[in-house]
Amino acid sequence: MQLNIKDTFNRELPSDSNTENTRRKVFEATHSYVNPKVPSNPKLLHASIEMANAIGLEEKDINSKAFLELFSGAIVQPKTKPYAMAYAGHQFGNWAGQLGDGRAINLFEVEHHKNRWALQLKGAGETPYSRQGDGLAVLRSSIREYLCSEAMHHLGVPTTRALSLMLSGDDVLRDMLYNGNADYEKGAIVSRLAPTFIRFGNFELFAARNDHSNLKKLTDYTIKYFYPELGKPSKEIYIKLFQEVANKTLDMIVHWQRVGFVHGVMNTDNMSILGLTIDYGPYGWLEGFDFGWTPNTTDKQNKRYRYGNQPNIGLWNLLQLANALYPLVEENEPFETILKQYQTDFETKSLAMMRSKIGLEKQEKDDAKLMADLEDCLLVWETDMTIFFRLLSNYRTGNPNSGIEVIKKAFYGSESIKDTILEQWKGWFTAYDQRLQLEELTDQERHVKMNLVNPKYVLRNYMAQLAIDDANKGDYKLIDKLFQLLKQPYAEQPENESWFAKRPDWARHKVGCSMLSCSS
Ligand code: AMP
Ligand code: MG
Repeated sequence: MQLNIKDTFNRELPSDSNTENTRRKVFEATHSYVNPKVPSNPKLLHASIEMANAIGLEEKDINSKAFLELFSGAIVQPKTKPYAMAYAGHQFGNWAGQLGDGRAINLFEVEHHKNRWALQLKGAGETPYSRQGDGLAVLRSSIREYLCSEAMHHLGVPTTRALSLMLSGDDVLRDMLYNGNADYEKGAIVSRLAPTFIRFGNFELFAARNDHSNLKKLTDYTIKYFYPELGKPSKEIYIKLFQEVANKTLDMIVHWQRVGFVHGVMNTDNMSILGLTIDYGPYGWLEGFDFGWTPNTTDKQNKRYRYGNQPNIGLWNLLQLANALYPLVEENEPFETILKQYQTDFETKSLAMMRSKIGLEKQEKDDAKLMADLEDCLLVWETDMTIFFRLLSNYRTGNPNSGIEVIKKAFYGSESIKDTILEQWKGWFTAYDQRLQLEELTDQERHVKMNLVNPKYVLRNYMAQLAIDDANKGDYKLIDKLFQLLKQPYAEQPENESWFAKRPDWARHKVGCSMLSCSS
């Protein structure tokens, strides 16, 4: 197994001089060296051939002993020095101080075909940043991270990637709902990849400690490797960096809104400096369209991270990043301008995204109202978001009365829908039909274009749960089945039609389906 290892982060940035694996506050360092825990009986459950290829490996490597040992943490690759990164963060709106990789260990960086990939094991044991945790991960949350990172990529959403899913062979104690019912679960390890795993929180840590020298080192490193097109670091370039991060963050969130993804824990330590979706915890997918929905039971009170609030939280998190970068610039105005621009861009980009979802190419002045009226319709009666937008592409112009017929499979509930609601929908279809008359695409052309932005298949909460239930019984087939299905979320895949279905009733209030905690 040949890997072109080219470490930069741990070679160019300051490390913690203490190399013991004890829990502590770490100062003036971006990382601490720590080896993964040796698992007692590792077993490979799934690997992504695509990501193996991306780092220069072949299919045969995946089945080798070397792969099993390396990506389960059993051995450390010669001449590499695994490490955990130091970062801080704001959690649920409050400053949380030092956090860091409490259960992620970076192995090394690989360069392949001019791409840089940092490889990380999640769930490979404690680190100096583990605080009160054990550094381990359970199978259910590992399956969720593994499947969703790859599904998101294929949906066209910027994300960290996943290479392998392993069982560690060790049991892990978890109180899944934080209600005093702790139990042992199977431990697992996901290897994941990204150009870098640097988060907003890495900058916040140094800024909070007035460690401007290391703040500058980290920022310059970030520009050198991940934003080289910006140029040589200077005050002006730090502002440009912030502008880029703001753009990427917004683009990522607009994608989330498009596909109905709710991250669930948008703390600043879970915000990638590259605008990638990172740290798949209690995330979920909208089934019934609902701005107020969050899958995260830990956030049940305030619903801070609900679907409709994600763009605002992106802005809030960017403000924290601006505060962290401020010492390098010492001027407020450029940051304020960018944050203001985010709000305008959000309006423009989300309207453009919604236009694409309903198949409009032109911009007309009443489009925002058309979208608002559609959202009202979607909210007035529980309507499956994914199914609605997918079916809408079948609408044929000139017959607004047929609209409801086209999309009615997206409605939840067995009772008949009140006439007033049907009238509201009819009103919308009439307006939509009139608006479509202004377009130049044929019905068929619109159908094709809409199906490229409205996925047919997403990792519905209950689908992941079915794979988890099977895996807990030792049957891993559904993991592969979903993995393959979600590689082509926009394709019809008639053989998989059974997954193009509303959430079954049993899943509505089931733990793991609509209710997830941060326990993982
Ligand atoms: P998260 O909510 O997963 O983003 O985690 C927030 C912080 O808690 C990060 O610093 C994680 O590394 C840490 N953490 C989460 N779970 C564990 C665990 N089981 N053991 C150690 N640290 C953890
Ligand atoms: Mg995290």
